Amino acid sequence: MLAGALEKAGFEFVAVPRDSAGVKRVADFNCDLVLWDLEDSSPNEPTPAERLRKSGLEDMPVAVIVQGGQGELAARSLAEGAADFLYKPLGKDPLPRILASLSTGQKQRCIAWSNRVIEDTGRQIRGILANMADPAYVVTPQYQILYMNRAAEEIFGEGMRGGTCYRVFHDRDEPCEVCGKSKGSGRWRSVLKNGKSYRFMSADIRNSAGELERLAVATDVTVDEEVGKIYKTFISNVSHDLRTPLAAIGQYVGILLDGLGGQLNEEQKGNVDVIKRSSFRLRNLVENLIDANKILSGPLKLKMEKADIREIIGIVLERLEAQAEDKGLDFKVSVPDDLPPVYADKALIAQVIANIAGNSIKFTEQGTVQLRVGYIPRDEGRIMISVEDTGIGVPTEDLGNIFELFYRVEGDKVYVEEGAGLGLAISREIVRAHRGTLWAESLEARGSAFHFTLPAHKNESGAH
Ligand code: ADP
Repeated sequence: MLAGALEKAGFEFVAVPRDSAGVKRVADFNCDLVLWDLEDSSPNEPTPAERLRKSGLEDMPVAVIVQGGQGELAARSLAEGAADFLYKPLGKDPLPRILASLSTGQKQRCIAWSNRVIEDTGRQIRGILANMADPAYVVTPQYQILYMNRAAEEIFGEGMRGGTCYRVFHDRDEPCEVCGKSKGSGRWRSVLKNGKSYRFMSADIRNSAGELERLAVATDVTVDEEVGKIYKTFISNVSHDLRTPLAAIGQYVGILLDGLGGQLNEEQKGNVDVIKRSSFRLRNLVENLIDANKILSGPLKLKMEKADIREIIGIVLERLEAQAEDKGLDFKVSVPDDLPPVYADKALIAQVIANIAGNSIKFTEQGTVQLRVGYIPRDEGRIMISVEDTGIGVPTEDLGNIFELFYRVEGDKVYVEEGAGLGLAISREIVRAHRGTLWAESLEARGSAFHFTLPAHKNESGAH
C-alpha cells in the first residue's frame, strides 16, 4: 500500500532488507528518505541512523517506523540522528505524513551541510590565523586569552592561554582604556612588549556554543611610523628653513619694483614681476606644507560645535563663486531646507569644501560645478556633501592615489601651474577626524564627483 501511494504521487520506491546488503543498496540508490521499519528489532541493536553513519551515509535522512510500545526505541532513534518517526499502522492515506518526514529529512540534510561548511570555514580561518605573520588572539569578554597564534606566541611566549590580555600583553593590573571601552569591532594602536608599534583591529565573534568572544589581529606599523616621523620632521625643517629666504626675496623684489634701487625699464620690470609671482607661489606652497604637516601630524584638534551646513558653506561660497565666474563656469548650490544640523569644526569643514570645490573649478574648463547637500538616514543620520563637475576627470588608474600626499595626475594641463597635491590628503584627514568618509568618482574627460559625509547632530549633549 505504501509503495502504491508513493508511486502514484510520482516517487520511486524501493524496498530492501534491513541487513548490510540492504544498506549498500540504499547507498547505490542515493534516495531522498529512508523509511526504516523497526518491527521486531531489539532495543539494544544500533539505531538506523547509526548504521547508516557507519556505512558512510551520515547525510542520508531516515524516518523510523515503530509500533505502539516501541516509543522508547523511537526516542533513541531520534536522539541518535533520525529525522522523524511514524507509527504503524500508517493508515489509509500515509502520503501526507511521509511527505512531512521527507521535508524534515531535507531540512536535516541542509543543516548538516551548513554545519559542515561552517566547520570547514572555521578550520580554514584557524589555519590562516595560525600561519599568519601578524599576531592574532581571541579573548573572552572578561579579557581571558583563549587563543594566540604563533606570531603572538613569538612575542609573549607559549603557555599564556588562560591569562588576561592586559596582564600578558601590557603588564597591567586592569584592562587598558581601548580594550575596556571598545565594544564590537574596534581599531587602536599599541606598543607591545617587543617594543614595536602595532595597529589592532578587533571584531566580536560567537563560538560554536553561541558565546561571545573577541578576535583581534595586529599589524606591525613600526617602520611606517618611523618613516612617517622622519618624513614629517624633514618637511617641517625644510619648509621652516625656506620661509626666511623667501621673505627676503619678497622684500627685495618689492624694493626693486618700487624703484628704490634705481629706476627699472619695462623689460626689467617684467622680469622682476615674474620673480615676484614665482616667489609668491613658492611662499604659498611652503605655507600649505606647514599647514598640512600640522594636520597630518595629528591628532587633529577639533573645535566641535553644532552647526548648520548652510552656514559652513557660506564661509567659502563667495570666494568659490568668484573663482567660477572668473573661468566662466556655472556654479550651482542646492541644499534642502529640512536638514538636521551637523556636529563639526566649522572652519575645517569649510576648508574641505573649499578644497574639493576649488579643485572642481580648477580642473573644469567649461560647463558646471555643482555643490549638492543631501541626507542619508543610515547610521543615526548622515549629511552628504557632493561636488560634481564637468571637468577633465581623473584617469581610473590615478583615482585610488589622488588622496595621497603630494599626488597629482601627471599630464594635467594645470599641473605645472598650481597645486602641490596636498588638498585632498588634508581633506580626507579632516573628514576622518569627524567620523566621516571622503571618496571620489570620476570619468576621464567627462567629469568628477567628490562626496563626503558627516554625522548628523543628534542631541544637545553632543553624543558624538
Ligand atoms: P592639488 O593641490 O594638486 O589640487 P589635491 O590633493 O587637491 O592637490 O588633488 C590631487 C590631484 O587630484 C590634483 O592634482 C588633480 O590631478 C586631481 N584632482 C583633484 N580634484 C580633481 C577634479 N575635480 N577633477 C580632476 N582632477 C582632480
